[in-house]
Amino acid sequence: MSNIKQKKRGELIIISGTTCAGKGTIIKKLLEKHKDMRLSISYTSRAIRGNEVDGVDYYFISREEFERKIENHEFLEYAKVRYGEYFGTPKKEIEEVLESGKDVILEIDVQGAKQVKELFPETILIFILAPSFEEVKRRIKARGFENNEQIIDRFRTAYKEINEIPKYNYVVVNDQVEDAILKVESILIAQKCRVDRIEEIAVENEEEILHEFIMGKEYNNEKPNYNKDTK
Ligand code: 5GP
Repeated sequence: MSNIKQKKRGELIIISGTTCAGKGTIIKKLLEKHKDMRLSISYTSRAIRGNEVDGVDYYFISREEFERKIENHEFLEYAKVRYGEYFGTPKKEIEEVLESGKDVILEIDVQGAKQVKELFPETILIFILAPSFEEVKRRIKARGFENNEQIIDRFRTAYKEINEIPKYNYVVVNDQVEDAILKVESILIAQKCRVDRIEEIAVENEEEILHEFIMGKEYNNEKPNYNKDTK
């Protein structure tokens, strides 16, 4: 009856979340399950940590290099996130991946999310929330790699970010990680069915279809004989 042609362009998905909300784990699992999905690798001026790898976790560059990229308009968005260090999303790579029809995830903070939403209102904004601050405390202790000053900073930032949740489209509480992943996947599946992704609906000619049907083309075996004398 009809043929729906949908936009080929991939979806831009932002995943933000409070400290220790588990967004990294959720994103890692999503990428393992959906081979076509891509994660944007950000640039940062902050120092490389622990077992992070340059070009995998971030592209680690100097402040000067970062500021040069700002001047050259190489970022889709950027912000000073923690301790005045820059974090930014490269523009060119993202555009290419979206054009090829693949979805791109940006794991960025609320300031970056706001900038991208303004540029591309169709961006899907998902906020991942830890189930409680008690749970956040437990997770920070379990990680155990930060000093008190850094922990206080994480909590302060988390409080500020929670106030920004209304600017997002979806919020997912990460109580059980498998449930949280399922919720994010369901959001993405629903997004693909959005009416504004339709480019064209080709509807076959109604009169022709009706004519063919009534004239028996569709059910040859029991073609009615209109000439037969029924008396
Ligand atoms: P870290 O990697 O230092 O633990 O945390 C980095 C913080 O910066 C996270 O909140 C993360 O979401 C955010 N972030 C990472 N990359 C980007 C980016 O490209 N742009 C913005 N605005 N935030 C980012």
